[in-house]
Amino acid sequence: MSLLVVGTVAFDAIETPFGKTDRIVGGAATYISLAASFFYKPVNLVSVVGDDFPAEMLADLAKRGVNQDGLQIRKGEKSFFWSGKYGTDLNSRTTLETQLNVVADFDPVLPESYRKPEYLMLGNLVPDLQFKVIEQLKHKPRLIVMDTMNLWLDIAREAVLRNLRHVDLLMVNDEEARQLSGEYSLVKAAKVIMGMGPDFLIIKKGEHGALLFHGTEVFFAPALPLEEVFDPTGAGDTFAGGFLGYLAGTRDVTYENMKSAVIYGSAMASFVVEKFGPERLLAVKKEEIRNRCRSFLELVQVDINLG
Ligand code: AMP
Repeated sequence: MSLLVVGTVAFDAIETPFGKTDRIVGGAATYISLAASFFYKPVNLVSVVGDDFPAEMLADLAKRGVNQDGLQIRKGEKSFFWSGKYGTDLNSRTTLETQLNVVADFDPVLPESYRKPEYLMLGNLVPDLQFKVIEQLKHKPRLIVMDTMNLWLDIAREAVLRNLRHVDLLMVNDEEARQLSGEYSLVKAAKVIMGMGPDFLIIKKGEHGALLFHGTEVFFAPALPLEEVFDPTGAGDTFAGGFLGYLAGTRDVTYENMKSAVIYGSAMASFVVEKFGPERLLAVKKEEIRNRCRSFLELVQVDINLG
């Protein structure tokens, strides 16, 4: 029984209207594993870093149940580095620089103990590397979730389409859903994307919440209106980790349970944006998660008289 996570463990440099950071810890798999570990252990991590990556951070992840048998640490090499800048509304982001470094020739070899996961999260990564992970599995997991981004849709579309034939749920933002499907309407886009393979689709809309599609059904969860939004980096990955961690923790991958998982994912994402990088997520208490989920319910509950 396990939850397998693949993706980047990295350094980021971020600029938002509220401030700027130098190199801080980031990476899709870092946020996913951290968020998932609140709901399910062990999280089996597959990634690669250089020996410049802080040992304290790895020790902290290990304490939280993130197993690093599949984490390669390359001596004398540099970790993946990404820098980005947000516009004033925080919904638009420009990548300033991507240095693949150790990811350039990363071969994601799964340790024997990782090859029968029940749940698999293919975090944002080169699509061929995501596929290499699928190829090493000894049996079909109960649920495979995949994330991707505009860069891969631009330069490796065929590989993304091949991956989609093997995954159960795709998680993308609205812009990526439109790019992938060629449809502006998100309802039409969802139909096209589910025709490419996945049975489920989540379209994230940043501060406007997230949509979960399955067949002809749609579920919508808003994002909490927050007073403090500081840095949206990692919000999508944190959402993914909370979502899949919750499904794994409850051992229930039905559409009905996915609706609750979307709320848990949104709650986790609402924390991460309050400070730069993963800082806020590292300090979250279980009670705070429960309270945030309660706020979500209050936000959408209404007694309506239908006459
Ligand atoms: P998110 O804000 O959830 O979309 O993810 C942000 C994280 O993705 C950052 O911490 C980056 O390190 C990581 N990231 C940025 N670009 C890439 C890329 N091309 N491949 C994999 N991870 C990336």
